[in-house]
Amino acid sequence: MGLPLSKTTLFTEDQIHKRVSELARDIDADHRIDEPLHVVVALKGSFVFAADLIRAMRTPLTLDFIAIGSYADGTTAGEIQLQKDLDSSIEGRPVLIVEDIVDTGRTLRYLQDLLRARSPKSLRTVCLTTKPSRRAVEVTVEYVGFEVGDHFIVGYGLDHGERYRHLAHITTIEETREPRR
Ligand code: 5GP
Ligand code: MG
Repeated sequence: MGLPLSKTTLFTEDQIHKRVSELARDIDADHRIDEPLHVVVALKGSFVFAADLIRAMRTPLTLDFIAIGSYADGTTAGEIQLQKDLDSSIEGRPVLIVEDIVDTGRTLRYLQDLLRARSPKSLRTVCLTTKPSRRAVEVTVEYVGFEVGDHFIVGYGLDHGERYRHLAHITTIEETREPRR
């Protein structure tokens, strides 16, 4: 069972490809070529974006994964917790967080605070999508792919109940109420 996908594509495969290349170029311009950038991919939604982004980058890099989850009961914002930690220390290393989407900002804020406390040399964030109208806490994002309105989006790694991550484009789910998690 799944909810009907909107017939209108929000971002096509070509549009995403072009924007990811631009983000890679911007990130390359800000980072040294003689020091590996440590890329921290926020699971699960960011894995498709990260796979394309790192292959478009020229900066030498190392990679790790982290998983942050929130348990929402529908009435409160939900408690954010660390589900899978990094495999290695980031102390003294230049770090780039790769996120799929910033909605209220709570998840990214938690992640940035967590990593900043570990004393990286630098900490920057790239987000494929952001919903500025939904922001509840302030977060700094150095590189933003696309701004979206107050829609629930899927595809290109983003899911709804673990479905639709494999779509090459990004689309919205057709329904009147936005699902919360
Ligand atoms: P936050 O509200 O903390 O910024 O976002 C929390 C998480 O909600 C995101 O990491 C993502 O997993 C999920 N989320 C928020 N908006 C959307 C959306 O439009 N589509 C999908 N697939 N997930 C979303
Ligand atoms: Mg996420």
